[in-house]
Amino acid sequence: METLIIIPITMHNFSFSAPVSWLFSRNADSVKGIFGFELNIDLIKKYQSFIIELNWFIELKEFGIIVKNIKKHNRKAKILFGGLFASLKYKEIMAKFDVDYHIRGDNELPMHLYLNGEKPEGIPNMTGRNFANDISYRFEESEFGSLSFDLDWFPSYGRFLSLGEEYYEDTRYNHLYHLPMIITAKGGCENLKQAHQGCVDCMGAKSEVLQDIYNRPPVTMSRESLIATIRNAERKFDSISLYIMPNTPCDISDQYFDLYANIEIDTDLSLEGIKKIAFAFRESLTIVPIHIQKAGNQKTNLDYHELIKSQDHHHRFLFFVTEDENKSLQIPAENRLYTEDVFPDWAKWDYYQNYENAYVFSSIFYHKVKEDVKSFPL
Ligand code: SF4
Repeated sequence: METLIIIPITMHNFSFSAPVSWLFSRNADSVKGIFGFELNIDLIKKYQSFIIELNWFIELKEFGIIVKNIKKHNRKAKILFGGLFASLKYKEIMAKFDVDYHIRGDNELPMHLYLNGEKPEGIPNMTGRNFANDISYRFEESEFGSLSFDLDWFPSYGRFLSLGEEYYEDTRYNHLYHLPMIITAKGGCENLKQAHQGCVDCMGAKSEVLQDIYNRPPVTMSRESLIATIRNAERKFDSISLYIMPNTPCDISDQYFDLYANIEIDTDLSLEGIKKIAFAFRESLTIVPIHIQKAGNQKTNLDYHELIKSQDHHHRFLFFVTEDENKSLQIPAENRLYTEDVFPDWAKWDYYQNYENAYVFSSIFYHKVKEDVKSFPL
């Protein structure tokens, strides 16, 4: 089924949804991806099937505008919506917007069936206006290694990425997070017994909510799956983002990947453990936490300066550290990332749980983005 996939553009270079780079790869010939602002009446009339991303609540306002526009010019079109925020609030969204379908829980198999013309009523996990199928498809660890990565169907993304490099003055943020992104766990975080202060704001820690969404506990990659998944990305891409979740066995020092990797470590690794990931890649930029996943938000025992000394021309380390903390840590400016820059208050769980908050903030964001788009032509 020919389908137009629409990503409401947030113009915020940290906001995308990782599954976008594998969810459509098996159906890349029958889908086309665009940013929200690229949608026009010709495209609306050309397609009968639309998928709109609603992964981040800041997309909500634009999501509503896109839905309205599609149904105004193509009454019979079917709209499926999905993403993390969509999963949290799908009932409210169904009630407020003229959308047709949502896949609850894991998307991989249901999306494939949907794009191959299977009737939505017969697809596991699918919800429609007058039916709600059981969440009977659950992603399994063995599936990680068979994910394939493809963004050929979404050429605007690559153009956006390179334009972004000119847009952000601080070059430390260039390519910091980008597609394809491999996250080493799916459906939550396994680290909850050792939750740290940062976990309070993280969706990964909301185990009950996530269990409800996915109908299963979190799934974390084995070492074999991690290697297989990176190899799959390597077949198609020259550069990846890699997010190492707690409990991932990630000593991959016996491997060499011909890739540039932006790595974020979100787990308690030794200095040697960090190097065993970072130096497995041709080039890497690795973000290392200052706080470990232990109660009380303790600092790591890592010798940050030793890690900095181990850098070479192709492998660099950045540290999440606040300005205050850095008074004692003395991490050089070129190795520092301020946590405030990447985790503002509005990105916190308690804030966007409230639908009204989410909608109001997304409206403010949308108007700012509209201005940005003018100086950001694709
Ligand atoms: S350890 Fe990281 S991913 Fe897990 S709940 Fe805490 S912040 Fe989230």
